[in-house]
Amino acid sequence: MEESGSRGVILTGMQPTGTLHLGNFLGAANRWNRMLERHTCYFFIPNQHAITVPQVPAALRAATLDCVAQYIACGLDPRRCSIFIQSHIVGHTELAWVLGSLTPIGQLYRMHQFKDKSAKGEHIYSGLLYYPILMAADILLYNADYVPTGEDQRQHVELARDLAEKFNATYSETFTVPVPLIEAVGARIMSLKFPERKMSKSDPDGNATIYITDGPEVIWKKIAAAVTDSGDRICADPERPGIANLLNIYCSATNTAVGVAEEKFATYRGYAPFKRELADALIALLGPVRERYAAIKNDKKYLQSVIHNGAETVQPIAHKTLAKVYRKVGFLEKK
Ligand code: ATP
Ligand code: MG
Repeated sequence: MEESGSRGVILTGMQPTGTLHLGNFLGAANRWNRMLERHTCYFFIPNQHAITVPQVPAALRAATLDCVAQYIACGLDPRRCSIFIQSHIVGHTELAWVLGSLTPIGQLYRMHQFKDKSAKGEHIYSGLLYYPILMAADILLYNADYVPTGEDQRQHVELARDLAEKFNATYSETFTVPVPLIEAVGARIMSLKFPERKMSKSDPDGNATIYITDGPEVIWKKIAAAVTDSGDRICADPERPGIANLLNIYCSATNTAVGVAEEKFATYRGYAPFKRELADALIALLGPVRERYAAIKNDKKYLQSVIHNGAETVQPIAHKTLAKVYRKVGFLEKK
């Protein structure tokens, strides 16, 4: 789905659960950059979502500020958007509580992410189940018109839409019903080692993932070692997920239509020359990101000022929405 020409509110974020990767860049940040011009953009760091799986407190704190540096390195210019930390704002968890009271529990058990992540974990906490409601609150608190995400978040945005409609029908028109913005190419970048799984920050296998901080040598090594198959045809065949993933990455990184790329590589024999071209494209794409990151990552004062300003901008909006919601559901006002 594409956003209309009119100026709208964009809300989206990435968890501070590790260094951002190619999937986060192609499926998310690089697209967000293109929205700065036309929309009012709120990019947040969902640290409250991050604790739905176990975290080391000091590492989470450091990763949160580091994520701000990575956002800016990916091109999100804080002069043209608001960047803020979820836990700095009063309103997200409060609204989630209200929305939770409208959410049938069966709908939460059906969420793919809950099924995937709970299958991996030994201890499953209710926060992981509740996660999509908090995400709905993140979106509805700012009356976001559009939520750009990767394919993995589609179901969660659908829930936010359902809850907005349900709240509006139950109480009266309050929330904007958000539209997910999910692109066909780049929306789902897969692991380089297990191409049936998506590339993830939380994947412990660093060789399955290209990080935005990876240098040329590392990128080349990871692409050279990426899983393919015994064939030699470069095409987007779902039966051959390894090469299809690499082609998808190439197309997304170079803004090339899949059909055009398939035609270009039709005469290539073997995967090596294609892999070299792909690695070069990624080196060119991520080089400036890595350089910007190196330049700002240690400037804590600057990074703190960015999230301070972000919170100053968005807190009044959150307060206003929350007050309206509390009034509508019948919470007695504090005098
Ligand atoms: P985690 O493993 O901790 O869940 P993640 O890699 O899935 O991390 P998120 O912070 O959950 O990253 O997601 C941030 C954004 O990046 C979301 O918009 C999500 O849809 C998008 N995204 C995540 N992984 C991919 C991927 N492999 N391909 C395309 N987009 C992705
Ligand atoms: Mg995720």
